[in-house]
Amino acid sequence: MSENIADLIIIGAGPAGLTAAQYAGRANLKVLVIEQTAVGGQALVIDVLENFPGNAGQLDTAGKELTGPKTGFEFCMDMHRQAETFGASFLFNSVSSIKKEGNVFKVDLIDDTSYTATAVIIATGARPRLLDIPGEKEFFAKGVSCCATCDGIFFKGKKIFVIGGGDAACDEARYLSRLSDKIVLIHRRDSLRAQKALIQRTLSNPNIKVRYNTIIKEIKGDVKVKSVILMDVKTNEVYEEEADAIFIFAGTAPQSSLAKTGNLNTALDENGYIITDQKMATNVAGLFAAGDVRSGAFRQVVTASADGAIAAHNAAGYIDEL
Ligand code: NAP
Repeated sequence: MSENIADLIIIGAGPAGLTAAQYAGRANLKVLVIEQTAVGGQALVIDVLENFPGNAGQLDTAGKELTGPKTGFEFCMDMHRQAETFGASFLFNSVSSIKKEGNVFKVDLIDDTSYTATAVIIATGARPRLLDIPGEKEFFAKGVSCCATCDGIFFKGKKIFVIGGGDAACDEARYLSRLSDKIVLIHRRDSLRAQKALIQRTLSNPNIKVRYNTIIKEIKGDVKVKSVILMDVKTNEVYEEEADAIFIFAGTAPQSSLAKTGNLNTALDENGYIITDQKMATNVAGLFAAGDVRSGAFRQVVTASADGAIAAHNAAGYIDEL
């Protein structure tokens, strides 16, 4: 980017950032997307993105299915291509801080380079939340994982525990059930809280056994996971069971720390998510937030994309007014 000056800087290239980039590019803004790892964010590992409207796969003229819904990876690659087609530039680097000087945002990177822009959208998403139990950190990547599509293949036919009762736990348990018929989904309550369709599919899957009212207290092993200590919260019975892998889907935590860097004092909710209005605007003029990092979001790919479109539209309006 010439002279490191953009109209709009978008931080994060998940569905929210990618959609914002496409919309801002189409609005003829000079857009720079800064992403620290890979395009796609959490959506990258979605096995079948079956609930994004329009992503139903293709039929032939006789109505026979040619392809199923795109995977999260395919979908994100398409969104990336669309954003570039409309002129957005991408930079793979980490932002260290954001400062507002007059009407200009200065975005500093960890390699001491800086970019400026009139508006910024924070679309840095959320990361998996861990359980903070003994053995979890020690055995991470040695049987403990937060991504079935990434690591499931290492546990073909093995005994796998899935922790959580939300959409992610049900979705990922289904993915793992194609690799093993020994999936045990552990949930601390007496009912799952996922979407109805996912619950039904989980409960009717012969390869998944759901164990309610149970928490995991410890993960044990030597060089890799060997067993788990579980507790029935109704009876307080504590017992040990053999295990080969533990997949944890206990919700997410926001990646919102940039909102409090430089001289920014962006308002966050009690869980650390960025507070926005309906325009995706934060309390800092010219600073917007979109997607999973935003307070109150439903946290689906489709809602992250919608947030991104709204944020880009209003960032363009803000820039025009200035
Ligand atoms: P979530 O909906 O917040 O569910 C987290 C689950 O983990 C809950 O069942 C919760 O139990 C449990 N949990 C939390 N802390 C725990 C602890 N310390 N010990 C044991 N269990 C614990 O989060 P998610 O399922 O990871 O999904 C994150 C977001 O992504 C959600 O907004 C979700 O809708 C979205 N998502 C959507 C899809 C889809 O649409 N197909 C797929 C994946 C994710 P309680 O129920 O007792 O609180």
